[in-house]
Amino acid sequence: MDEKFVVDTNVGRIARWLRMMGYDTVLFHELDDGLMVKLAMAQGRIIVTKDTGFMQRRAVAMHRVKAVLVSGDDPELQMQKVITELKLNTHFKPFTRCLECNGVLRARDREGIKGEVPPRVYERQEQYMECPDCHRLYWQGTHWEDMHRKLQQFELQTQQAVEGDQR
Ligand SMILES: [Zn+2]
Repeated sequence: MDEKFVVDTNVGRIARWLRMMGYDTVLFHELDDGLMVKLAMAQGRIIVTKDTGFMQRRAVAMHRVKAVLVSGDDPELQMQKVITELKLNTHFKPFTRCLECNGVLRARDREGIKGEVPPRVYERQEQYMECPDCHRLYWQGTHWEDMHRKLQQFELQTQQAVEGDQR
């Protein structure tokens, strides 16, 4: 099953990580928790929040909505928790979603992109993706590599956590 998410604004960084893996992720900005539950139910999304009160809400308690509670302020530890708890595939569909707005990225021709990216980038990068919604351009530069390395780290830690459970 392809998990879909709605991420509470109090753990907004998680939305970027989930989108990085390719998961359809809505970042929820409103203050009304009830609306977040409605959205999650209507669209079959899993809620990610660090609001403990939220977990006591009826729909969550009754398991009509799935929710993951994270804690602390470290986005990487929070992400680790989400991956482990839901057994997410960190290689789901990497780099297919816009990190900023969740749009589904489309490939762009290198030719057509000249002038839209710094010349140094243009010289080195062959492949480009564009978000059709916010028109942000993506390429596999250093930022991409950093996040990719982190994803591999997450995966390793998840494996270790699983092995630890089996002992
Ligand atoms: Zn976008």
